[in-house]
Amino acid sequence: MRARMEAELAQMEQAYATTLAKAIWELDRESLQNHVDSAAGVPSVGRVAVNVGLASQAPEVLEFRREGWMAPGWAPSRTLALAYEPYPGGKQSVGALHLQGDEQVLWQRLRGELASIVVAQLLQSLLLAGLVMGIFNRMVTVHIRRIAQHLSRLRPDTLNVPLQLQRTGRSHDELSDLVEGVNQLQGSLSNYLEQQQRYEKELADHRDRLAQMVDARTIELQEANARLQGLARTDALTGLPNRRSFDEVQANEIRRARRNQEPLACMIADIDDFKAYNDHYGHAMGDHCLCAVAHTLRASLGRAGDLVARLGGEEFSVLLPGAEVAAACLMAERLRQAVAGCGIEHAHSQAASVVTISIGLTVMEPGSNADFETLYQQADAALYRAKAMGRNRVECHVPPSFPTPGAVP
Ligand code: GH3
Ligand code: MG
Ligand code: MG
Repeated sequence: MRARMEAELAQMEQAYATTLAKAIWELDRESLQNHVDSAAGVPSVGRVAVNVGLASQAPEVLEFRREGWMAPGWAPSRTLALAYEPYPGGKQSVGALHLQGDEQVLWQRLRGELASIVVAQLLQSLLLAGLVMGIFNRMVTVHIRRIAQHLSRLRPDTLNVPLQLQRTGRSHDELSDLVEGVNQLQGSLSNYLEQQQRYEKELADHRDRLAQMVDARTIELQEANARLQGLARTDALTGLPNRRSFDEVQANEIRRARRNQEPLACMIADIDDFKAYNDHYGHAMGDHCLCAVAHTLRASLGRAGDLVARLGGEEFSVLLPGAEVAAACLMAERLRQAVAGCGIEHAHSQAASVVTISIGLTVMEPGSNADFETLYQQADAALYRAKAMGRNRVECHVPPSFPTPGAVP
């Protein structure tokens, strides 16, 4: 910038040298002043001084200083000795021209230059940034957005749709690493979910199988329990209800008879001379005989509520709910005849040549408060009488209200 100012001053020197020297020689003050004014009109000039040094005249200085101009520090300054040649070979020194640059103008120009450089740099930077952003957007942002969109739409059923970017170049870079990573992650997730579903299905199958097995075992257990309960209430030899079952039924029947004010007949039947039978025919035949008697007794009972049970040994008990004395005696007699009618040979019986039974019978009258113990004792006493009176007969306990005892031979 300083060199440019110096060049300007040098140009002015060249331009003024001849005409200025001539104006001094000819003492043309107007032209002299015009030169100084003209030089002062150049913006880069801070001070113009023309030293008039003619031999015939006292030295004189014509000067112009721009307002605010200070002795040049950094601004250039030039001095040119002025000479005039009025005739060839007669060169005469006429003075000197001093041109000094204006430092303010110099700084102004420098600031202007700096500002334009800064603006240009700024524009360049902005353009470059825009370009870089455009390229970055085309090469990275678009794909990152696409990856984000793909990930946000990812569902368990879309895991097998791979992530794909529409890129022209096939270079291996961070983006392709990212795509590869996402696809690998999707693959792993998909496998994991499939395995999880397989496990869940297997677990459900196992659960179903287990439930089926538990159901089957429960049914088996219920059946076994029912069998066990049946066994616990059934006499193993004859298949008749046993004493336990009989005790449950008799308790219910007594309560019902009392509640309904109905009679209840109870009898004890005992095989005559059964010890002798066993002794003669053997225990196995004795068992057969017991089964036959049991079957006959059960088959001979008439009503659904009638019950026959084996109380132990060769002794049976019969309950006839609602049976009055006459009906009960008839039924007892029917039972006795049925057993005798089986015709099972008994060579050592005191009562007959076939197996027979003796029956003791009692009837709980309607409205009676008698308990089963009492009934049983009454029936047992009647049985004792039947045995004592020769066996193969029915003896009935006679309640006090009855006018005559009823015994059927
Ligand atoms: P009574 O006419 O006075 O009743 O004489 P009894 O011989 O029938 O009576 P006792 O009580 O003397 O004999 C009963 C016999 O019954 C004794 C036993 O050998 C037989 N007995 C009891 N339980 C069974 C059994 O389950 N099977 C067989 N085979 N015999 C039995
Ligand atoms: Mg007997
Ligand atoms: Mg007996």
